Amino acid sequence: MMGGVCAACGKKTGIFGSRRLPDGSRVCRACQTMIPSPFLEEQYASAQDAKNGVEYGKLALETLYPAFTATARYGRMAIDERHGLFTVCDATSIGKDGRLKAPSPGIYPCLAVTEASFNISPVSTAPVHSGARAISCRVLFSGYLERCNVHIHAVIKKNVSCALMPDGDGGAVWQEPDDLTAFCGCYRQMVETAWKRMQATEQARQEEKRMEQERHQRAREEAEHQVRQKECRETDRVRDARILFMLGEDYTEADLKRQRAALMRAFHPDNGKVTDPAYAQKINDAYECLSEYLRRRGKK
Ligand SMILES: [Zn+2]
Repeated sequence: MMGGVCAACGKKTGIFGSRRLPDGSRVCRACQTMIPSPFLEEQYASAQDAKNGVEYGKLALETLYPAFTATARYGRMAIDERHGLFTVCDATSIGKDGRLKAPSPGIYPCLAVTEASFNISPVSTAPVHSGARAISCRVLFSGYLERCNVHIHAVIKKNVSCALMPDGDGGAVWQEPDDLTAFCGCYRQMVETAWKRMQATEQARQEEKRMEQERHQRAREEAEHQVRQKECRETDRVRDARILFMLGEDYTEADLKRQRAALMRAFHPDNGKVTDPAYAQKINDAYECLSEYLRRRGKK
């Protein structure tokens, strides 16, 4: 039985259409379409790289691909300066409107890729001599996708004619073509803009957090104020009750009971002196209030 299970999705995979990685694991056809090529290009690409690749590819397809609109291009590399993204693809993959014609997982935020560099290397290994006027080179982009521990290496343009200049030592050095210089400038500018935007977003987030904390603080203070006010009102009630009971501030439970008995005797409807039962109620309420206050005071 050939084949095995896909290192990325765990599903059974046949030998046809699945790709064998250097560590012996396999990646099914469906997963391969989700994985940006740099994840599997390395000589030591592993099952973990395949897993990371699917995870990254899904996210890129969901969040980066719908936004990506190329604003500048150089060979196979296209950048989206507004969103701070770039991709490497065939020249025919991008329409006139700058949109990718088909979904691609190989889109990267420029801020996620460090050590980005553009390098020129001569196609021919023949020694460069001062007699020649130009030399055929290719341009490579390389960067490091730190989050996934993946290096992006891509030839973005072949057959670039680079003018030769004498190096003052009998030899010659090739010159960077102007359109590449301009594109590198765009790339750097894009990174700077994205960086500033990220900082501004972070600042706004911090500011929002600070304001939220202030709102909480104000709400807490307001609540504490309400509680204090309520305590004040209760104190008024206690004082009114004390006046009714003719008690000083340091009354005891015995005082309270004694005074209630006296007041009840004096104002009891059965006594004939005062017939309004509301007085008895008032005395009882005052007693409850003073008794409660006594309990609370005792706790403190
Ligand atoms: Zn799979």
